[in-house]
Amino acid sequence: MKVDSHVVPLARPTLGQEEADAVTRVLRSGWITQGPEVAAFEQEFAGFVGAAHACAVANCTTALHLALLVAGVQPGDEVITVSHSFIATANAIRHAGATPVFVDVEHGTWNIDPARVQSRVGPRTKALLVVHQIGMPCDLAQLVPFSRERGLPLIEDAACAVGSEIRYEDAWQRIGQPHGDVACFSFHPRKMLTTGDGGMLTTRRGDWDQRFRLLRQHGMSMSDSARHSAATVTFERYDSVGFNYRMTDLQAAVGRVQLRRLPQALAQRRRLAERYAGLLSEIAGVRPPAEPVWARTNFQSYGIELPPGADQREIMQRMLDRGVSTRRGVMCAHRERPYRDAPGAEALPVSEFAQDRMILLPLFDEMTTPEQDRVVDALSRALERV
Ligand SMILES: *Cc1c(COP(=O)(O)O)cnc(C)c1O
Repeated sequence: MKVDSHVVPLARPTLGQEEADAVTRVLRSGWITQGPEVAAFEQEFAGFVGAAHACAVANCTTALHLALLVAGVQPGDEVITVSHSFIATANAIRHAGATPVFVDVEHGTWNIDPARVQSRVGPRTKALLVVHQIGMPCDLAQLVPFSRERGLPLIEDAACAVGSEIRYEDAWQRIGQPHGDVACFSFHPRKMLTTGDGGMLTTRRGDWDQRFRLLRQHGMSMSDSARHSAATVTFERYDSVGFNYRMTDLQAAVGRVQLRRLPQALAQRRRLAERYAGLLSEIAGVRPPAEPVWARTNFQSYGIELPPGADQREIMQRMLDRGVSTRRGVMCAHRERPYRDAPGAEALPVSEFAQDRMILLPLFDEMTTPEQDRVVDALSRALERV
């Protein structure tokens, strides 16, 4: 089969001269790790999502780890979550010494099914860790009151959800205020806003924010910048065992530029997604993503459901042969060795269906109309031969 020299990639971060200039400016400033750029990025990010506090860290996995620890999760505890997520969600629970208890997802949003959470709450349940998968908000209007009634901290894995919105208390609100107790974001290059690697914790609770700041910096009682600017000699203390989960100022400077680009990127993706939906409606049996009336995804990824009988791997291979890169649906952690025997793993039919029957189509800010046409054409031809 003829392979087109130009492959349409699944995703491509938008990084330009402004990001390069930002990095150069920080390099020349002489302060290159967690300092003034990180502080400015935190403030600007908090302003964007509407959070009282934002604390930058090395990546979202470390953010999830700190969120679980500060929420009080300890060895032997259980945390209710989904298997249908990138494996870092479940791993963070294990890093805290706890056991993930898996709940199935809902057909359509592919997010945690609130109706199934109740039956998994037991005496060892310590927290809920819910995921806004590939940018689609999960049903916080049901999950927040439930967690409050039960006195269970609600942690939002918002790795993919920067710029996503939900209709909440009669207004459109950005994910990350947060609506639960803490939200964790990722700035990996596969996400909408990238700093190479990076993460952010947002919370309303000042005491939690203080704990995040302490733990990300070795448990040190004062920040480097506070010590640097002190007029009197001061010695720091280390009252708890912390980590090195810092973000660098080089990363934060890139993040600040990316944050300014974000509104335009969100609008562009929405346009591309609408165009996809129109084109895909011509292909029998393919289901484009559907937003509930109360949700606006950021379209970080564009996941479609293949028609019954279509072989996922075969369709993906045929599309690749035509120069179109795709990915299968979001993974299920319980199908990987560390989580095969996790509680709940035996009853996750919708999660498994989503992994096996969905594929992610290319979508990125600078995608062109001809590129998008090529994707749809490749999909249509791949399915014709089913
Ligand atoms: C990407 C991702 C993570 C991990 O983020 P890192 O910044 O790479 O640590 C966690 N959860 C979900 C749902 C993700 O998509």
